[in-house]
Amino acid sequence: MAHEKILTIEDDADFRSLLEETLRREGFTVLAAGAGAAGFELALAAAPQLIILDLGLPDIHGLDLCRKFREEPLTRATPLVMLSADGDEDSVVRGLELGADDFVVKPFRPAELGARLRTALRRAGRPAAEETAERIVADALVLDTVGREATLAGAPLLLTATEFRLLHLLTSNPGRVFTRDQILARVIAGGVVVGERNIDVHVRALRRKLGAFAERIETSRGVGYRFRETALPLVGSAPADPNLD
Ligand code: CA
Repeated sequence: MAHEKILTIEDDADFRSLLEETLRREGFTVLAAGAGAAGFELALAAAPQLIILDLGLPDIHGLDLCRKFREEPLTRATPLVMLSADGDEDSVVRGLELGADDFVVKPFRPAELGARLRTALRRAGRPAAEETAERIVADALVLDTVGREATLAGAPLLLTATEFRLLHLLTSNPGRVFTRDQILARVIAGGVVVGERNIDVHVRALRRKLGAFAERIETSRGVGYRFRETALPLVGSAPADPNLD
């Protein structure tokens, strides 16, 4: 889809113009609001394909606005990307758990913002289909979700059931960051009481088995993990480093 309509909600006028200019150059049509209430009204009236939402707004907290967008039937499924300040990981985690799709840390690199938005738009265009796909292919990695087997460059990967579910969750939602809580709820077998940090242990074990391909499982510091859609690094995330996690 060409010229997707993107609504930006950001109170800082300078940053808002920079954002608008960046998005236009990336080929998007831009609508802008300088406060939460105006942004909400504009979203209902104009039905944008994606909403960029600053977490620090003057009239409503970005997280409350995020919740409102998710409760409102007209915007429930609209991709929502949060703008956050560096060091605001707790808010980002809460936003993702409220249903935001992604976040971008200010300041951002324009090309990376564009890539991040296109990923969110693509994902919105193929609702949940991939999680039920029988086969997921991500370059050299192939997951047979029926036989519950994975191969890397043709060689079988010996994964535990949890590692397979983790890899399946991440690869079936490329580019999407999952918080540890979200991973816990979707990957760890029901009834088992484990801490969030338990996820890190599984990620570490999985990365070891993936060898050089492990760099595609990216750590979003203080937030969670995502499977990188491309080999290019994305803004707002540190590259995966198996030794640090
Ligand atoms: Ca702000």
